[in-house]
Amino acid sequence: MKVIGILGGMSAASTALYYAEINRLVAERRGGLHSAEILLRSVDFAPIAALQAAGDWAAAGAILARHAAALQAGGAEMILLATNTMHKLAPEIAAASDLPFLHIGDATAAAIRAAGLQRPGLMATAFTMEQRFYTDRLRAAGLAPVLPGVGDRAEVHRIIYEELCRNQIRPESRRAYEAVAERLAAAGADCLILGCTEVGMLLNAQNVPVPVFDTLALHCRAAVDLALAA
Ligand code: GLU
Repeated sequence: MKVIGILGGMSAASTALYYAEINRLVAERRGGLHSAEILLRSVDFAPIAALQAAGDWAAAGAILARHAAALQAGGAEMILLATNTMHKLAPEIAAASDLPFLHIGDATAAAIRAAGLQRPGLMATAFTMEQRFYTDRLRAAGLAPVLPGVGDRAEVHRIIYEELCRNQIRPESRRAYEAVAERLAAAGADCLILGCTEVGMLLNAQNVPVPVFDTLALHCRAAVDLALAA
């Protein structure tokens, strides 16, 4: 079994879900008392979030590149960057080690295509929805992402940073997310990408009217596939 390196803490709330999901998948596939071999570098999210807000992506990239190199030095055999947003810096972070870097957008696009779907709604941070690094990657994979309207994007973003990243789950925010998902489906989305690793705290296949693709779960599955490959 290969050691899965997680570059996490963005937020700590979702990194805990990565840990649980990866171990659940390994137990499901190997049975008995099997669990994953994981090396975790968990950053302090406050300075990273401040750099995001300031638009100083180069400084955030330099911090995360150092953590990626530390994962390799510590014995990780692959890197999972446990946040969609910071995949804006995927090239810089991937270049900081020789390890396989499992891109969260690629794992997600492959699952959507395998399901024969093409027009995913995208609920994520404003950075992920509004900058090109993520939607262009989906388009390059043959998908046509559908974005929420401007007010919905702002509210989805606010709830991520003010609540979900702080491990706060509020019924009114779940209802707001459900309403955004319904509007995306009405606008022609044939499925929904939970495009932020915290969005699964509020949405899932039970409360969304179209098939759901949870980036966190798909990213974990890609890592376990590689970790258990012969
Ligand atoms: N975890 C989030 C994501 O998947 C947002 C937090 C961050 O900015 O890294 O995009």
